Amino acid sequence: MGDAIKNLRIRFYGVQGSGSTFPSRRESAALQEVMDYELLKLVFKDLSERMDGENRFESSIEEYLGGPVNRKTLLRYRKRFKVAPPRIYGGWTTCMHIETADGYDIVLDCGSGFRNCAKDLQDKWGARKKRELHIFGSHSHFDHTEGFDQAGVCFDPRNTIIIHGNYQYLYSLNSYLGIFSQFVPEDVKGLQTPINFSNMPAGFKGIEIRDMADPVVNARQKSVHWDLHDVTRPIEIGDTRVTAFFVYHPALCLAYKVEHGGKKFIYCTDHELRHGDDPDAPEQKRSEACEAELVKHAMDADAMYRDGQYLRSEYDGHTGIGSSTPVPRIDWGHSCIEDVEEMALNCRVKHTYIGHHDPNREWSERNWIDEALARGSRGRREQIEFARAGTIIDL
Ligand SMILES: [Zn+2]
Ligand SMILES: [Zn+2]
Repeated sequence: MGDAIKNLRIRFYGVQGSGSTFPSRRESAALQEVMDYELLKLVFKDLSERMDGENRFESSIEEYLGGPVNRKTLLRYRKRFKVAPPRIYGGWTTCMHIETADGYDIVLDCGSGFRNCAKDLQDKWGARKKRELHIFGSHSHFDHTEGFDQAGVCFDPRNTIIIHGNYQYLYSLNSYLGIFSQFVPEDVKGLQTPINFSNMPAGFKGIEIRDMADPVVNARQKSVHWDLHDVTRPIEIGDTRVTAFFVYHPALCLAYKVEHGGKKFIYCTDHELRHGDDPDAPEQKRSEACEAELVKHAMDADAMYRDGQYLRSEYDGHTGIGSSTPVPRIDWGHSCIEDVEEMALNCRVKHTYIGHHDPNREWSERNWIDEALARGSRGRREQIEFARAGTIIDL
């Protein structure tokens, strides 16, 4: 393993929104072209440095390469030049892992990225006795739960998986997997996946994060197969404190503030700062109230992951995303990149990672948006970039 964890080590396993997606053949070719161009630029710079005063090449090709033109020599020559691999944004849907300095493992959401995350956890735990994973789910949508029944950690009887989330998150996992109730009704059995609790031998425990002051919720969801926890009370996992709060999305959705040793990370996926015409519409008011709560928690954060699925023109329906049809995306539950930037600056967040990329967003476009964010961040205390799978943040 690498160097010691100071407080929190956060690793992104999935930052793709809505559904898993990977570069098409055309997009792969475009990425290849970028890399070819970068390589050729370096080669010709090197060549130009070997020209004489009359701009003529001063040696033979063999002398320059250090051998005859064959595979071995060319590959050795290639090694002189370092070209950064293409930046792959997304692919797997939402999942991130937090390792704490006092040895706890926390996972935020179980999108398709959870499969690779779980594999790394199993490798890390090896033959270890303490095998406990704390999952915090944002909401029940498929892109935040789809990796669950493919995760190695769920199939090892030595493991204990504690799942924190709102009612819908726990309900959705339980409805077709029966992991909390140890029961799946016949009509749902096999509906989503061939797997259910009977072939998932890990131990599962659910903790519902609920607004205990909400009489409607408490009246409707009386008997449940898990424990209840009031949303206003933070959850302590060793020396790490996790505070949940509700955000604006078509499903009941939680964001999390994770604090350890004076460092603060905000995880806010699937939240919409709404742009409606009627300032008095209840949806508009709710969205703004959620945004205000988020702003309060995010103030002076060290790092933040936040959903910025659209550009404002796409949200308003003036332009499509990639080749998709331009349609207004109000109440689809996602924020605009421009709004996230503004909010991050207002909150003086040190490093913001914008994620939940739209599956229609082309790879090349992800690149140029990220480059624009990098230009804006230059020389500024607050850094903003596009989230990528594989990113590691040390706090
Ligand atoms: Zn989502
Ligand atoms: Zn969602």
